[in-house]
Amino acid sequence: MYDIIIIGGGVSGMTSALYALRNGKKVLLLEGSSIGGQIAQSPKVENYPSVKQISGEKLSEEIFDQITDLGVEFEFDNVLEIKKVEDVFEVIGEFSKYESKSVIIANGVKHRKLKLEKEDDFIGKGIYYCAICDGPFFAGKEVTLIGDGNTALQYALLLSELCSKVNLVIMFDKFFGDDNLVKAVETRKNIHITKNAKTIKLNGEHELEGIVFEKLDGSTFEIKNTPLFVAIGQIPDNKRFENLAELDEFGYFKSDETTQTKTPGLFVAGDTRQKTVRQVTTAMCDGAVAGTNACNYLNTL
Ligand SMILES: Cc1cc2nc3c(=O)[nH]c(=O)nc-3n(C[C@H](O)[C@H](O)[C@H](O)COP(=O)(O)OP(=O)(O)OC[C@H]3O[C@@H](n4cnc5c(N)ncnc54)[C@H](O)[C@@H]3O)c2cc1C
Repeated sequence: MYDIIIIGGGVSGMTSALYALRNGKKVLLLEGSSIGGQIAQSPKVENYPSVKQISGEKLSEEIFDQITDLGVEFEFDNVLEIKKVEDVFEVIGEFSKYESKSVIIANGVKHRKLKLEKEDDFIGKGIYYCAICDGPFFAGKEVTLIGDGNTALQYALLLSELCSKVNLVIMFDKFFGDDNLVKAVETRKNIHITKNAKTIKLNGEHELEGIVFEKLDGSTFEIKNTPLFVAIGQIPDNKRFENLAELDEFGYFKSDETTQTKTPGLFVAGDTRQKTVRQVTTAMCDGAVAGTNACNYLNTL
């Protein structure tokens, strides 16, 4: 029986573990794929305060070392389901079952991808999913952005402040975001909007060199030598936990900065919950709160 089981070995889950372990709790961290989560994909992180530049992988390893030294127990397992019977949580993974008095879900999100050949190879080498994180690397340069919702519109404005030109390419003939954002984007001089164009191919050997689009009439065009920002949505994977924690219309956990859910002893941290800014620092912040609140909950049992 563990005091706390944490689902997800990204920065929010590991920060939760750090706080719980320093409170003397017995903690199990379950990770379904690889330590570090999303940030481990990023070769350069430059907005983590106190460290000017670090790779996401290194940042993740440092936190993992820190919690390993404090005695975290770790298993690779993909959690399928959680049940609560009286005061005990049963966490059911693909390989095993675990029991605890409290659970923190820190399972993050996945960025929706274009699903084109070479996309994964070019992540960090011309393809980026986060303009807040990676936009500043292209200050003064021309960039390309794909996406038609609020995130894409916000990214377009942000990039247009930093970059000389933003090629904004959308699949249909309209945006699916707030009117004020659409208006702001449409009137910004250095944002060049192309409608009704579908991304069909990524060119390049070792890094992205060209993006090929197809128009409605079947003709194609290529934008060469610009980085590509992809903002076509994020996918939370929380349905399996709906029995214990409410979800909003997009599938994110409904919770505020207390990280609490409707089930006493169950907390949610990081990108997986409703929030406006999804970043390493905000995920860690949630981890600190969830870890502390889980300890407070345990002290009341
Ligand atoms: C390419 C890229 C670059 C980025 N660059 C920056 C940057 O420079 N600066 C910045 O601040 N932010 C950046 N971000 C955003 C940042 O990485 C995230 O906001 C942050 O890492 C979220 O952390 P998290 O712990 O909430 O979730 P994640 O990092 O998504 O971690 C969740 C973990 O849970 C695991 N998991 C999911 N489901 C299960 C399950 N059922 N069972 C067990 N394990 C499970 C996943 O495998 C994953 O490891 C970037 C994101 C990407 C994709």
